[in-house]
Amino acid sequence: MPIKSLIRTIPHYPHKGIMFRDITTLLKDPIGLRTTIQEITKRYQTYSIDKVVGIESRGFIIGAPVAYQLETGFVPIRKPNKLPAQTIGRDYQLEYGNDRIEIHADAVQPGDRVLLVDDLIATGGTAEAAVRLIREMGGEVVECCFVIDLPDVGGRTRLEKMNCKVFSLCKFE
Ligand code: 5GP
Repeated sequence: MPIKSLIRTIPHYPHKGIMFRDITTLLKDPIGLRTTIQEITKRYQTYSIDKVVGIESRGFIIGAPVAYQLETGFVPIRKPNKLPAQTIGRDYQLEYGNDRIEIHADAVQPGDRVLLVDDLIATGGTAEAAVRLIREMGGEVVECCFVIDLPDVGGRTRLEKMNCKVFSLCKFE
């Protein structure tokens, strides 16, 4: 069963006019979950990744098993005030208002080869902030990996403009 066909679309969630791509239907399917993790792992097996960084919260669900399979560490990027030790953070703009993400200040070492993982890229605002945090710590973002890309929204292009490679398992045009 292809991954894309297991993703459910919820019209007008969380706001009118938004087509929300719901990965819980993919995650609850045993073959869907396994295929998702295996396809990502297969791609990065030879990339000499040191750390997988996942973005709260669906990036944790995908990123942690990928890290386990690649035999790397896993690092969470979280919403503000969730991480207990010293953090560095970055604010970024949403369509309506601002948001902020944080990472532990000692989570990535200079020279670490990092794979950034999230479930979906839309505007790329969240991923851009994450890439900047990782680079600020001296990490090298080898690639940004998503289950879903929404190419019409432009996030991939935005990341590519910052010299970031982008990979997705499927696209919704
Ligand atoms: P961006 O910053 O690229 O505009 O938005 C991406 C972030 O918002 C990701 O962390 C992602 O989890 C969340 N997101 C935005 N739209 C959707 C959607 O339709 N489905 C899912 N699963 N996540 C979304």
